[in-house]
Amino acid sequence: APRGFRHIAGYLCIFLAVCAWRLRKSGSFAVLSQKQAPRRHPRWAERKMHSMTMEVLMEMDEELAAEEASMIKRKTADFAEGERVEGVVVRDCGDSIHVDIGAAADAILERGDFIGAADRRVYLPGTHLNVTVWSKANHTLSLRMHRFNSCRCQTCFQPKEGPVHRQSCVQCWNVGRGVPPLFEANGKRLHCVVGPVPESVHEKVQALIKQGNTYWDTWAEKSSRPLQKGRLHGVGIQLSRNRTFPGTAQLRGRCNEVLGEMLDTEMVEVLNNATNEDVWQSFRWYKPPALPSREPGVASIDPADGGSVQSYIGQGYMAVLSNCSEDHAPPVPVAKLLGVPSCKETCPTCRSKGCQACEECCVHVDQDHSASLLLGIQEEDPIIDQMAFFVMGNKAFPLAGGRAFLFDGKVVPHGVWCMRGHYQGMAFVKKVPYKRRARKKPEVSRK
Ligand SMILES: [Zn+2]
Ligand SMILES: [Zn+2]
Ligand SMILES: [Zn+2]
Ligand SMILES: [Zn+2]
Repeated sequence: APRGFRHIAGYLCIFLAVCAWRLRKSGSFAVLSQKQAPRRHPRWAERKMHSMTMEVLMEMDEELAAEEASMIKRKTADFAEGERVEGVVVRDCGDSIHVDIGAAADAILERGDFIGAADRRVYLPGTHLNVTVWSKANHTLSLRMHRFNSCRCQTCFQPKEGPVHRQSCVQCWNVGRGVPPLFEANGKRLHCVVGPVPESVHEKVQALIKQGNTYWDTWAEKSSRPLQKGRLHGVGIQLSRNRTFPGTAQLRGRCNEVLGEMLDTEMVEVLNNATNEDVWQSFRWYKPPALPSREPGVASIDPADGGSVQSYIGQGYMAVLSNCSEDHAPPVPVAKLLGVPSCKETCPTCRSKGCQACEECCVHVDQDHSASLLLGIQEEDPIIDQMAFFVMGNKAFPLAGGRAFLFDGKVVPHGVWCMRGHYQGMAFVKKVPYKRRARKKPEVSRK
C-alpha cells in the first residue's frame, strides 16, 4: 500500500507540473480536459486530483480574465480617427447600431442617408462588422462602415437595377442656379453629362500611366504642379514656349486612343443630340463650347486658332496646396454625401470669399477653350475614408468603379476631392495661347 501511495503522489506531481507547463504555454486551461490527465492511477485519485487542480486553475483563470479584460478595453482617447476596427453588434436601436469595438463604452454606427451609414437591414447581436472610427466628438466613438458598398447607382443615384446598369447609366444634371447651361433637354437646363468609363478605356489608362511613370519618375519635379497635392502631368504643347511637355512624343498615341474611344461613348452622343437654343436667350454672353475634337489630336496645333487639345493625367491629384490641412472640410456636395460639416461651415475663406478663393479648397474654374472631358477611376468598393469624388457645382459623384464627365470648366466650379486615398484621372481640354486683352466684364443678362 505505501508503494501505491507513493505512486499516486508521484503521478500527482507530474500532473501538476504538466498543468503548470500547459498553463504557461497557452495562458488558459481550456486545453486541459480529463482526457489529457494521466490514465494509469485509480479513478478516485484522479477525481480528487482533478477537483483540486480545477479549483486552483479556476481561480487563476478568473484573475487572468479580469486582467485581460482591463487590458483589452481601450480608452476612447486611444482610438485614432480613420482607424479600422473589428466590431460586434451589441444591439440595433433603429436610428443607430451599438457596436462593441473593445472600447470602454459601445461605439455608435448611425443609420442615415450618407455614405458608410448602417443600411436598412436588421443588425443581429453578435454580427461581426468591419468599421472605421470616424469621429470621437463628445467622448462618443462614432463609426462608419469600412468599405463603400452602395445599393444606389452613383451616376443617377437611383437604386441599382442590376449589374448591366452600372456600365450603361448615362445621366444629365443641372448643377445649380446662375451657371449658364451647356444644353437643354425636356425643358430643363443642364450643365453636364455623367457616364461610365468603358472597360477598354480603364485598361488603356492603366497602360498609359504605367508608361508615363517611367518618364515622370525620372523628373526632378514629380509633378507639373509640384506645389499641389498629388501628381499631375500634361501631355500636350506648352503654348507659351512652343514646345511639348516631356514624354508627349511617347504618350500622345495612347492619349489619342483614349480620347477617340471616349468620343464614341453614349454620353457624347447625348450631348451631340441636345439643343441649346434657350441658352442664347437667357445667357446672351455665353457661348456653349464644343468638345475637344479628335482632329488634329492631342498635342497638335489647330490651324484654326493656334490652340491644342491637351491631356492631363492625375494621380491622387487635387487642386489644393500640397501642404493643405487635412482638417479643411470637403466642399458642400461631398460633405452632404459623407454626412460631415462642409468647408462653408468650417473654413472662414470658403465661407466669406468663396471656395475658388481658398487655396485649401479643390473647387475652381479654368481658362479653357473647349468643354472638358474628364474621367476618374477608383476601385469599385474603396475604403470610405479614402474615397475620391468629382465635384461640379452643387453635385458630387464618387469615382468608385470609374466615372466620366462632360462639362464646361470655365463656368462650372469643379474639382476632385480625395483627401486621404488614391485615384487616377485623365482630362482632355483645348487650350489656346494666352493673349493680353483689355479687361472687360462680360455683360450678364439673366432672366
Ligand atoms: Zn444609374
Ligand atoms: Zn477653404
Ligand atoms: Zn470650399
Ligand atoms: Zn479644373
